[in-house]
Amino acid sequence: MHSATPYIGRFAPTPSGYLHFGSLLAALASYLDARHQQGRWLIRVEDLDQPRSIPGASEHIIETLACYGMYSDGEIIFQQDRLTTYQAQIDQWLTTGQAYYCDCSRRQLAEFNGIYPGTCRHRQLPAAADHAVRLIAPKQPLTALDRLQPPLTQDLATATGDFIIRRRDGIYAYQLAVVLDDIAQGVTDVVRGADLLDSTPRQQWIYQLLGQPLPRYLHIPLLLRADGEKLSKRLGSTPLDPAQAPTELFRALQALTQQPPLALRNANIAEQLEWAIAHWRPQQLSPTQNLQQDSLFD
Ligand code: GLU
Repeated sequence: MHSATPYIGRFAPTPSGYLHFGSLLAALASYLDARHQQGRWLIRVEDLDQPRSIPGASEHIIETLACYGMYSDGEIIFQQDRLTTYQAQIDQWLTTGQAYYCDCSRRQLAEFNGIYPGTCRHRQLPAAADHAVRLIAPKQPLTALDRLQPPLTQDLATATGDFIIRRRDGIYAYQLAVVLDDIAQGVTDVVRGADLLDSTPRQQWIYQLLGQPLPRYLHIPLLLRADGEKLSKRLGSTPLDPAQAPTELFRALQALTQQPPLALRNANIAEQLEWAIAHWRPQQLSPTQNLQQDSLFD
């Protein structure tokens, strides 16, 4: 773990949609956590999946964050600019035998129910553009520690099996890129939505293979719609309206159970952020309870 290292946090949006209230919570939580600890905060655009990226979404996300007073402390990195780095790491693991090519069809994979049984592990398939690349899962269970969530122990061999680091369509996997980028950017603290908790042991395995210290993790509860569905870009959640930023920011602080004083409701962005940085109490979040959107309206 990074203990004595100065704090570096980040928000890593995927531009498959615009910034909505749910993603604002993740951005805000990571920003407040960084600022509360006098840390740096970076924005990184996770645009690996070009076919799913919406033109203009990256710019919109960055501009919307600016309306909320959140600016990256360093250059904004785009994952599309880092593809050679991802490939170089994959090549290295292919050489050492820690990764291998896989040509299993979609139909075969469907039969495995998401847990890959290692079908191609010893087939020694040659390099081919339309083969996926898998990383061999460890035999030992891994435990993800979190500042809010209970420890999560996963035996990757039985939970996921050897997992994809490059897809058959040539797109690099999130699990790989997120770790290589967090390492390259010196990220000490990952604050993100609890939907990614389940990915953490796979990411920890990559840190371990690379001999790098793990970041600290804080997985914040998810915002659910009143009908219990996750509020996501795919569900077409409304993009945030910059004109409403002070009101939405106040609601976001309420949603993160920071109990902002009512007097703050009419304050501007800078004043609200100043209060929120000074009073940031992530332990007030409940690990298991989802943040209900309907409870935020009075
Ligand atoms: N890009 C991911 C997302 O938008 C977040 C990745 C992360 O924070 O590790 O869900």
